[in-house]
Order: sequence, then structure tokens, then C-alpha cells
Amino acid sequence: MGLVIGLTGGIGSGKTTVANQFAAKGIEVIDADVIARDVVAVGSEGLAAIAARFGESALLPDGQLNRAWLRERVFSHPDDKRWLDDLLHPMIRTQMISACAQARSSYCLLVVPLLVENNLMVLADRILVVDVDEQTQIARTLKRDGVSRQQVDAILAAQATRAQRLAVADDIINNDQPEAELQHQIDALHQTYLTLAAQHHT
Ligand code: ATP
Repeated sequence: MGLVIGLTGGIGSGKTTVANQFAAKGIEVIDADVIARDVVAVGSEGLAAIAARFGESALLPDGQLNRAWLRERVFSHPDDKRWLDDLLHPMIRTQMISACAQARSSYCLLVVPLLVENNLMVLADRILVVDVDEQTQIARTLKRDGVSRQQVDAILAAQATRAQRLAVADDIINNDQPEAELQHQIDALHQTYLTLAAQHHT
């Protein structure tokens, strides 16, 4: 398996913005959120198991997962939350490892928003944290998602703190400045990662 860079950061920190710039350099980006959706897509083993446990109410009329219902259910039933995590986390983990193993670029970027929260640091050879001042993070999230300040605060409270993320970082991108300022930080990291990838043997 080639070199895997784990990219993480809080809500609205700029992970997608950063990942797009690496992708523009030809680096393969593997997104944990996409994999998390794939493992419960129509026809998946994950969705079949959920339907078997919860019945029709877990599905929308078109057969897709009723995310709103499931979110509500696990919020009020901790045992169901545990069951669901036990079902899906190993599937997501396996898919992430397999996607990294298949990547063909000199290194790959594994974007995992909840890397620290779910203790997935071991999946990456190196961890890159997109760091942003909390006020900036809140302002960008409010602007992008059109959610309330209260909702953003609740999400922030449920996520790892900035300090917890920085504690596991090998590399840090600061995203407090306008987007144009990201380029030179990303260029420098790309060079570092190319060098590391050339020395990487597993
Ligand atoms: P999430 O995990 O919530 O999906 P994210 O970490 O992927 O978020 P982005 O979607 O990349 O974050 O960025 C959040 C918002 O902030 C977006 O609307 C994006 O366009 C904007 N943004 C990102 N970086 C900057 C910047 N340097 N200056 C101004 N706006 C920015």
C-alpha cells in the first residue's frame, strides 16, 4: 500500500476545499463520508441489515435509507446506536483500507472528518489537520449551511476540540486566510509527501 495521508478538521474548517486542491495535482482523494453513504446504499448488505432490524420504518418509499428516522431512533435508543455503529464502522473501515490499497497516485489522501472522534488515526501514515480559528469556522459554516448558531454550537460540542486534533497532527494547514493563501501551504506539503512517498515501502 502506498503512503496514506489522513486529512481531518472540524465542521466547515475547509477539508473539501483543501482536498480539491490536492486532487487538482492528481492525488487520489478517498472520502469517508462517501464510503459511509455507499455502505447503506440501496442493494447493500448494510441497508439489508438495517431493514431486517427496524422494518419498513427505516426505509423511504423508494427503498432508500430513511436517514432522518434512523438519526432520531439512535438518538433516543443508545443500544440501537451501538448496534448500528458495530454494523457500519467495520464496513466503512474495510472499504477505506481497500480504497487506499487501490489508489494509483504517488500518495493518497484519506479524508475522515471524524478521524479523531472515531480513533481512526492508525489508518493513515501521516495526519494532516486543517486548522481554523473557531469564530471563522462558525461564520463559514453558518454561511454555507444556512443553519442556526445553536445547531453549529451543538455540532462543535459533539466534535473533537481543536486542541485534540492538533495533538495528533503531523502537519497542519492554517485556513484562517482567504482561499488563495492555501496554495503555497499545499504546494509545500505536496513536495514533502512526494519525497516521503518515494521512500515509503510497506
Ligand atoms: P464539512 O466537514 O462541514 O463538510 P469542510 O471542512 O469540508 O466542511 P469546506 O466545505 O471546504 O469545509 O469549507 C467550508 C465553507 O467555507 C465552504 O463554503 C468553503 O467554500 C468556505 N471556505 C473554505 N476555505 C475558505 C477560505 N480560506 N476563505 C473563505 N471561505 C472558505
